[in-house]
Amino acid sequence: MKTIIAHKELQDSLDDLRVGKSSIGLVPTMGYLHEGHLSLIKRAKLENDIVVTTIFVNPLQFSATEDLDTYPKDIEKDTLLACEAGADFLFIPSQQEMFCDDVLTSISIAEISSILEGVSRPTHFAGVATVVAKLFNIVGVCSAYFGEKDWQQLHVIKRMITDLSYRVEIKGCPIVRDADGLALSSRNMYLTEGQRKEASNIPRSLLKAYDLIKSGERNSTAVKQLIIAQLEKSTEIGIDYVELVNGETFKVADRIDDETRVLIAVKIGKARLIDNMSALNGPNI
Ligand code: AMP
Repeated sequence: MKTIIAHKELQDSLDDLRVGKSSIGLVPTMGYLHEGHLSLIKRAKLENDIVVTTIFVNPLQFSATEDLDTYPKDIEKDTLLACEAGADFLFIPSQQEMFCDDVLTSISIAEISSILEGVSRPTHFAGVATVVAKLFNIVGVCSAYFGEKDWQQLHVIKRMITDLSYRVEIKGCPIVRDADGLALSSRNMYLTEGQRKEASNIPRSLLKAYDLIKSGERNSTAVKQLIIAQLEKSTEIGIDYVELVNGETFKVADRIDDETRVLIAVKIGKARLIDNMSALNGPNI
């Protein structure tokens, strides 16, 4: 695996490989890699000749009150893990490399960016989309791998691809979870031991909701109330939102059908955590 800091060097290397018709898989991350990230790299490796993993803690996607300065980093460990998982290139650009002195361009995807996550984080998806667009422009034609953990982000990126005709195929990958069902996240490291135990209430609430749906319940309000009641058992958890929406259009789903997605965001200690599941298939726990 080759670590690259300059985007021009990455472009030149990939151009050379494309001459030989190599297919390229791209896995954008903010680093502090865990098994969730590694599952994306491994799948990209299975489906492509060459895998590019990127690590960039993107300041554009953090608001002034968020954790940009404390976001965890371990480049040495990430390098080892990315290499073991099958990455061929690890692109770790500096801020200067990505934006020169300033970035004046912003890509915003209307409607879908201002609901759910976008209510608490109004500038978040424009920040994500702008940097992901730049990575797509650097890497060129590729398949890009994103986790279903960030369900709304996955759909924001899909919409950008459609609207702007990027020659990128988006592949959504299942959520990787800890033994108790908590979705892996770099931000889980913010949790104290006690908060980590309480956090298992998040997957538990999804499982309970799934049990209710399996028993025949199709009223979204009843399912939402059950999830809220389960989350509220923990005094450490502050609910940001619990919503049932159409997983493609993001329209609120009053009745549950096979397109309904259950989406949760909570604050616990210093961490803001999200999770989701298909209402009819349940969480993959
Ligand atoms: P991040 O470093 O948090 O920006 O995540 C980089 C990519 O990894 C995104 O596409 C995430 O959706 C994905 N990802 C993060 N956590 C998980 C997880 N537990 N399971 C699957 N994918 C994940």
